[in-house]
Amino acid sequence: MNYSQTTTDTMPDIKQAEHVLHEVFGFEAFRSLQKDIIQNVLNKKDTLAIMPTGGGKSLCYQIPALLFDGLTIVVSPLISLMKDQVDQLTAYGISASYLNSSLSPQEYESTLDQIRRNKLDLLYLAPETLLKGNVLNLLSGLNVECIAIDEAHCISEWGHDFRPEYRQLSNVTAKFDDVVTLGLTATATPRVQKDIANSLGLSNANTFVASFNRKNLYLDVVNKSNPLQQVINFLRRHEEESGIIYCFSRNQVDDLTQNLNANGFNALPYHAGLGESIRTQNQNAFIRDEVDIIVATIAFGMGIDKPDVRFVIHHDMPKNIESYYQQIGRAGRDGLQSDCLFLFSYGDAGKIRYFIDKKEDPKEQRIAEEHLQKLMDYVEAHQCRRIKLLGYFGEHFNEQNCGMCDFCTGDTPERENITVPVQKFLSTMARTEQRFGYNHILNILLGSRRKEVLKFNHDKLSTYGIGKNLSRPEWKQVYRELMKQDIIVREFEHKSLKLTPKAMEILKGNQDVFGVIEEPVQKERTRSSKSDIESLDFNRNLFKRLKEKRMELARKQGVAPFVIFGDSTLIEMAYYYPQSEESLLKIHGVGRAKSKKYGTDFLDVIMEFSRQHNLKERSKSAQPRHKPIKKTLSKNSRPYEVGHMFRNDRPVQDIASHFDVKEGTVISNLIKFVKAGESIPADHLLDISSLNETEMQQVRKAFNIHGYEMLRPVFDELNEEVSYDELRIVQLYLMVKNGV
Ligand code: ADP
Ligand code: ZN
Repeated sequence: MNYSQTTTDTMPDIKQAEHVLHEVFGFEAFRSLQKDIIQNVLNKKDTLAIMPTGGGKSLCYQIPALLFDGLTIVVSPLISLMKDQVDQLTAYGISASYLNSSLSPQEYESTLDQIRRNKLDLLYLAPETLLKGNVLNLLSGLNVECIAIDEAHCISEWGHDFRPEYRQLSNVTAKFDDVVTLGLTATATPRVQKDIANSLGLSNANTFVASFNRKNLYLDVVNKSNPLQQVINFLRRHEEESGIIYCFSRNQVDDLTQNLNANGFNALPYHAGLGESIRTQNQNAFIRDEVDIIVATIAFGMGIDKPDVRFVIHHDMPKNIESYYQQIGRAGRDGLQSDCLFLFSYGDAGKIRYFIDKKEDPKEQRIAEEHLQKLMDYVEAHQCRRIKLLGYFGEHFNEQNCGMCDFCTGDTPERENITVPVQKFLSTMARTEQRFGYNHILNILLGSRRKEVLKFNHDKLSTYGIGKNLSRPEWKQVYRELMKQDIIVREFEHKSLKLTPKAMEILKGNQDVFGVIEEPVQKERTRSSKSDIESLDFNRNLFKRLKEKRMELARKQGVAPFVIFGDSTLIEMAYYYPQSEESLLKIHGVGRAKSKKYGTDFLDVIMEFSRQHNLKERSKSAQPRHKPIKKTLSKNSRPYEVGHMFRNDRPVQDIASHFDVKEGTVISNLIKFVKAGESIPADHLLDISSLNETEMQQVRKAFNIHGYEMLRPVFDELNEEVSYDELRIVQLYLMVKNGV
């Protein structure tokens, strides 16, 4: 097929590319950089495209392939993906095929025949296939216009999957006249990026690097306390969605799979101990939506590009930030919102450290140690998750609020001054000669009558029972902070706790400690940056019917369901209720060929449903805006308790001493309470402010200019002269007065 419009005989231009985007793929607009890259390729300039997973790299060669007269070769190391890729193109009405070792001799021969007869626009090849004498000879006699090198990082020895055959690709490209080379990769590491450009001889001017921020991924890190329950709670919010759970070891994979199935979920395992055929079987079941959940070791993921993976859970700690980024990257390729949950524990970090300590090569040990530290920085960050994550790859993220991480949506509890409880804990350790472990120290603090406590006469200590104002889970949090901040260490052999020099300074009162004491509660998530499609209030029942139809067609044709239509297409159908082919073509992801092939099947379902429920077609231009949802607070959360005490006329100072926290923390809790849609009286709020009248006026003026959502601009406006604590008081007052 030739999609270039024949009215001009000049080179294809970007207008034609846009035409193909609408007509063939049914998409509205190019994503960032796609246009520049395609323009460059159409101009036959060798190009390197660096975009994150799901960024839309494929279109960068698929659209030129349709506009060029000759053949486009796509080199890819991922043999298992080729069939799905070719199926997808075929569904779009594009003539594409592949050659690799998985084909039977007949299939192989028939593809060679198609090539000889110039029947193809795109040909997918494994690098070793391209390097074969007979294949190369055949191709060099043809009009090859573009060679796209997918997963181009395989050319770099610095990359994580170096392939020697990739090194020979530059010799191959030299064999063709007038061929343009396009390298594509999702590698975020600058060093590997440079290496690819050098190896392929590409200039800076023709290298395009997209942002690595995956906006549609919600990043959440929570303390791992009861992993099975935490996973189950999470999965209950993701019923009938596809997702991956990563575990540390094969045993854990097997255990968790069993537990999930016993709890009514639909999960299959994937790890190196399972044997090739079971692994392929399980992977295919996942790709074809026959199973919802794959529980896997890191071995899973390279060979899939399922676009609708809705969540990735890290049940255990990943090796480093790079693998973490790669693994969460498998979620949400289709651009719809997806959830990434990381269950973190210091025990897991300890396990990794234990393996690092056993390494013999000191250089390797140092590198592994650095990697672990970077990951810890990410986990422990009290700022937007995207700052550390993207920072690791050299990208500066400076949005005020990403709206898509636990920190920015307020799921991360406030840091407060915890010096007093910390001193109580440390002095109990000191008074018992640092010979005991956590539980014993806690029992003393809580005034327990346990045998152990009495046996050592620890009920006679001055710190006996002085920790009753905090609950056990709250003490656990204090303990976590002590470990995290290297104030105490745990001796491996005897499991006793030891004070570090930092602890001495704190005990002497020379240093304050800040940390999170609030018990981590799993809260309902707010979704704050939905795409246009997701904000549609679509008909769930119709969506379900459409999914069933999709599954039925996919089974019949032996392809993955997403090959037929993606979720966003079905969502739009279930909102606009198109009643004719013309309206169907306006739906996202419906091009001419797909409309012809599947149109009637889906229109039938929609029309029947509309008749039954008396629904009328909606015109696609009238899109509603979506309203932000308010977060609800759990009844046992600190902000909830604080809010209610304040409502019952307890003064802020009083509440602060009740919880053993600063007044600033109480104000922060009240802000959360109000943000969750609760009301409090405003009358006495400003009483605790120590600003004088002129200062107060200036502060209110600054809030008038910048709004009261963000404190930073107000802080800057006032030349950093008014503290955040003071600003928060006024912020709260304004929120209550004006409504949030
Ligand atoms: P990558 O190869 O970079 O991981 P893909 O090329 O597989 O990403 O694209 C990811 C998804 O985004 C696919 O489902 C694709 O159809 C879709 N997509 C790509 N470009 C666009 C666009 N301009 N508009 C809408 N959807 C797009
Ligand atoms: Zn954020």
